Amino acid sequence: MDKMFVSPDTYIQGSGLLEHSAQYLEKLGKYVLIMSDEIVWDIVGNEFAEYLTNNDFKVEKVVFNGEASVQEIDRITKIAKDTKAEVVIGLGGGKTIDTSKGIALEANTKLVIAPTAASADAPTAGLSVLYTEEGVFDQYKFYPKHSDLVLLDTKVIANAPVRTLVSGISDAMATNIEAKATTMKHGVTMGNGAATFTGRAIAAECERVLWDHAFEAVESNKNKLVTPALDAIVEANTLLSGLGFENAGLAAAHAIHNGFTAVKGEIHHLTHGEKVAFGAMVELVLENTPHEVMDKYIEFWLTLDLPITMEDTHLDQLSEDELLQIGKLATAPDETMKNMPFEVTPEMVVNAMKAASAYVDSYRSSHTITPIFKRN
Ligand SMILES: [Zn+2]
Repeated sequence: MDKMFVSPDTYIQGSGLLEHSAQYLEKLGKYVLIMSDEIVWDIVGNEFAEYLTNNDFKVEKVVFNGEASVQEIDRITKIAKDTKAEVVIGLGGGKTIDTSKGIALEANTKLVIAPTAASADAPTAGLSVLYTEEGVFDQYKFYPKHSDLVLLDTKVIANAPVRTLVSGISDAMATNIEAKATTMKHGVTMGNGAATFTGRAIAAECERVLWDHAFEAVESNKNKLVTPALDAIVEANTLLSGLGFENAGLAAAHAIHNGFTAVKGEIHHLTHGEKVAFGAMVELVLENTPHEVMDKYIEFWLTLDLPITMEDTHLDQLSEDELLQIGKLATAPDETMKNMPFEVTPEMVVNAMKAASAYVDSYRSSHTITPIFKRN
């Protein structure tokens, strides 16, 4: 297997970036299609479109329907072709971004990704997670080319809900855990090659920045302030985590996250990053992580009120059979569970979920934890 490192062409991060982005965008084309969901249009989309129009861009505004599905990609691709768009801008959260990637490919345009939350590591990746129209995990779709430009406006992120930043921190914290497992296995990365030292170093640096600055960044976000800590975590959640997972590999944490889509229920009221937190906790149990190491992660997750027990994730409401369905989907042949350094069975997943939960409960009852953020 060949070593591989993949990334977007350009990544730019700054405070108030969208309001001075014309200089970067005009290199790609003046006919732009901006897609955003209704909420994002109100918060920042209309203002951004107006700014571009004032700078001599021709702007087509499209409302994204909320699901990253093949059907939605087809619908907006048609609009992009009809309006002869040169550039597609995905402005919003993970699903908006993932959909914009499919549209740019199908309509053969340049792709600009402008996240309005640092909630997951989708922005820099050359793949989308697609769902059925009912919201069930459908496929990882891989693209022949990465985005042309990623625009990360830290002022927008500072004003986004704190829960989105915390979710991104959680998604990012899984990056190095999964990269280490993949490395041990000599597994295949999401870029479909062997990991480079570069990819692995990025995943490790992602984790270091999180340990050092995550809590201060959350406090900044609570106060809607752009600070060096927030700036650091925006980069950790998007660039470091994004390049890290794509170039160093996913393993059990994300496979278990995808396994959750086998069941219905309240777990789906949790965000991607929140579900990944429990997936990562379960991965640590599968790996038989020494408790000094495990405790450090548990303390981190609980300080951010992340759901890392069966009760927190509402999985305690499911039957044994439903739990086994999660285990089966998480260990399906095309899942990233194959990057674990040992074979993992559906039963091992179920046992590890229960054991992780019991260990966290015991940790909680013997330690005082003061969360700096509450989800509700
Ligand atoms: Zn993720």
